[in-house]
Amino acid sequence: MSLIVVGSVAYDGVETPHGKVDRMLGGAATYIALSASYFTPVKIVAVVGDDFAEEDTHLLASRNIDLSGLEHVPGGKTFFWSGVYSADMNDRTTLRTDLNVFAGFDPKLPEAYRGEPYLFLGNIQPDLQRNVRAQMNGVKLTGGDTMNYWIKDFRPALLETLEEWDFLLINDSEARLLSGEHNLRRAAARILEMGPHTLVVKRGEYGAILFRSDGHFMVPGYLLRDVFDPTGAGDCFAGGFIGYLAGRGVTPSDGDLDFAELRRAVIYGSVMGSFCCEQFGVDRFRTLTREEIDARYQEFKSCTAF
Ligand code: AMP
Repeated sequence: MSLIVVGSVAYDGVETPHGKVDRMLGGAATYIALSASYFTPVKIVAVVGDDFAEEDTHLLASRNIDLSGLEHVPGGKTFFWSGVYSADMNDRTTLRTDLNVFAGFDPKLPEAYRGEPYLFLGNIQPDLQRNVRAQMNGVKLTGGDTMNYWIKDFRPALLETLEEWDFLLINDSEARLLSGEHNLRRAAARILEMGPHTLVVKRGEYGAILFRSDGHFMVPGYLLRDVFDPTGAGDCFAGGFIGYLAGRGVTPSDGDLDFAELRRAVIYGSVMGSFCCEQFGVDRFRTLTREEIDARYQEFKSCTAF
């Protein structure tokens, strides 16, 4: 049972207080897929140009990520994004966004993808997210991500899209913007009326909160000794969360999800987000093992049990 991941595959330029890399593999779908691949088979839907390097294809393929939905546009250039982080790395400024082939991205699912049960829609135009879901014929669990731009300028389309989702993963400022409520508990209650029965609010280094109509679950952030590059941490959280649920075969029964499994999924999300920050870009995924992931999951358990 595979997970379909839709979103950007990119080249990123990143500067943090620990260093600067002008161009490296990035993109939300890249991070989500790499992270989820430790838990479940993943099939990617994205677009790249002629400049997409063979070694980057190899990295994704080495994690058994199905790339038949990775469209190559002849003569085109891959999406490029660059940003610089503040000294404490809690803020980042975007320096450049060259959409390139991503501007014309109109995801078409290969036939072999359409019957899969799990779908994660990365941050793309909400109408495109809805079109992807419509191409699937047996999807059991759908969720995704969005960003300020879509919340502000594409609100009606986003609201229509959210009606069909089981879960939404966003950060705290996006939750406030989407709901119009500053208080997070009120914001969550509003969002849970928009369609998703499960909401995860990511709070960067401060952790995450899982909200459902009948309660919530709070996780602190993992205390890393060194954060080298937070790029992609939110996406890796998403990959760990949905990857774990897919790997366990979790699906809603009578419209409801097992709360204990959702809690574990949030912990795995936090674990994957933390690993992502330990090296620049996707580098940590070149060596990361499932054993290291499970060891950190256990550490999380002992650090938070009382
Ligand atoms: P995160 O740090 O989790 O927000 O993810 C950062 C990743 O998102 C980078 O690898 C970028 O390539 C990608 N990204 C940045 N801006 C956009 C955008 N407008 N649409 C899609 N992906 C983006």
